[in-house]
Amino acid sequence: THFGFKNVDKAQKASMVADVFHSVAGKYDLMNDLMSMGIHRLWKRFTIDCSGVRQGQKVLDLAGGTGDLTAKFSRIVGNTGQVVLADINDSMLKVGRDKLRDRGILGNVEYVQANAEALPFPDNTFDIITIAFGLRNVTDKDKALASMYRVLKPGGRLLVLEFSKPEYELLNKVYDAYSFHLLPKIGQLVANDAESYQYLAESIRMHPDQETLKGMMEQVGFEQTTYHNLTGGIVALHRGFKF
Ligand code: SAM
Repeated sequence: THFGFKNVDKAQKASMVADVFHSVAGKYDLMNDLMSMGIHRLWKRFTIDCSGVRQGQKVLDLAGGTGDLTAKFSRIVGNTGQVVLADINDSMLKVGRDKLRDRGILGNVEYVQANAEALPFPDNTFDIITIAFGLRNVTDKDKALASMYRVLKPGGRLLVLEFSKPEYELLNKVYDAYSFHLLPKIGQLVANDAESYQYLAESIRMHPDQETLKGMMEQVGFEQTTYHNLTGGIVALHRGFKF
């Protein structure tokens, strides 16, 4: 396709990703519900459950976009804790901030425009870092993982929720047909934007599979790394600790 992913340089990929999220920001939540038939809510709930988050903790919701995880974390960490929603894209940050403020989620949430590859926080800052459906969009994933490791406190954990490789061949085929044929059509109908959803399908196919991502996390220092397949491996939740 015109995205010609394998042939673009890093700056081009970053600017394509920026265009995609500027374009979809306003319809992002609606599209998420439609495309996943609401199941993304369960994947996110599971992520919170696996985070072990407690009152008073400091959480980074990286590539946090429209703030679904931030909203949940904010309630749990309470007034003595803090959640930082960081995203590279100001359109997504604005939609997220407006949504959370409308829901009365204030006080313990901070919004930061930042690139996951070069996080603007001191070493050993956060108890928990999540990156949900974000790592796939990052140009240099190893650099981003190393940056997350640096800002995590010793004893802290990273959770990566991301599309992954379906566990069964049949599911793989059905899923491919869905994402390459139906998804851009839904994108066209609802958001008048087939291209961004074509990008989504391609970025999912290019993303490292479960074992590869686990290895990448270990490479930058994460320990006790595990992953849990969700919905037959369409999505996986990876977890790793910094000790
Ligand atoms: N985490 C949210 C969720 O699960 O609904 C939003 C996910 S959205 C698919 C991906 C987000 O990653 C977008 O908001 C995009 O701007 C952000 N993103 C892409 N590249 C990034 C980078 N290098 N650093 C930080 N955020 C990035």
